[in-house]
Amino acid sequence: MKNLFLAAAIVLAMLFSACSIQHDLLGKPKSAEADWAQSQQRLGGQSKTSPQQALPEVVVPQPVEEPPAAAISPVVKDKFSGVNKPHWGHMPVTYSVLNEEDCGTYEAARIKRAFGDIMNATNNVVSFIKVNSSATADISLSCTFVENCYRKSVEVYSDYSVRYETICGHQLGITSKTTLGNIITKADIELFGLAGFAETKSEGPSGFYVGTCGHTITEVHELLHAFGYQHSADNTSIMYPEADTFSLITQKEGACEGSSRAIDKSIADDLVQTYS
Ligand SMILES: [Zn+2]
Repeated sequence: MKNLFLAAAIVLAMLFSACSIQHDLLGKPKSAEADWAQSQQRLGGQSKTSPQQALPEVVVPQPVEEPPAAAISPVVKDKFSGVNKPHWGHMPVTYSVLNEEDCGTYEAARIKRAFGDIMNATNNVVSFIKVNSSATADISLSCTFVENCYRKSVEVYSDYSVRYETICGHQLGITSKTTLGNIITKADIELFGLAGFAETKSEGPSGFYVGTCGHTITEVHELLHAFGYQHSADNTSIMYPEADTFSLITQKEGACEGSSRAIDKSIADDLVQTYS
């Protein structure tokens, strides 16, 4: 019991000293207080609060808040302002192909298919509209052709021969994007095919077909970059970096190992969550 009284006394003593310190902290130097009183008299006003009461409002720290999207730019609207990572501010997202004729019918169709792949994977939560002007489109795509990259060779044996294709190491796709805070405002995607294919500008396989067997990995991979997704170290992911470049490869004619890959479920789920 004695100990209890002693403890209570110590607690009271501590509280008292804490109050004293608080008072000292909040108290202003006498001269400043006098100045304040004088200024109030000069203004002819009568304050209901003393300087000591008003002061705590000034010293209480306020949490620093992110400025709202509207404060960053009044022009860019963000329909998904609750999303705390890079994202498009509206849906559907528009796209245009800068040099569609150069791309050829085959690659133009594959680009269209890549957009469809993302719409399908997200049950149309993410959707796209094709527009005519690359300047005003959210995503602008263009096609470039790599010269002197493809060689064909034949190994002849006594009773059979094997045809080989050698494809130079080259860029397959590059994506650059512009952001304003967390809002993605523009993306440019450059896609690379091989020059020298007579059928490039008509139906059927083209300089974009070789080594890929028509799969849309590169197109989808670049589009996902345009949505802010980064590379993955997982070699089964569509965001594995190899979709950006083609290493020098010699393969049997028509082979296209590893060219098929679906959109990761985790990415599809994340897209749905972000744009729902
Ligand atoms: Zn990439």
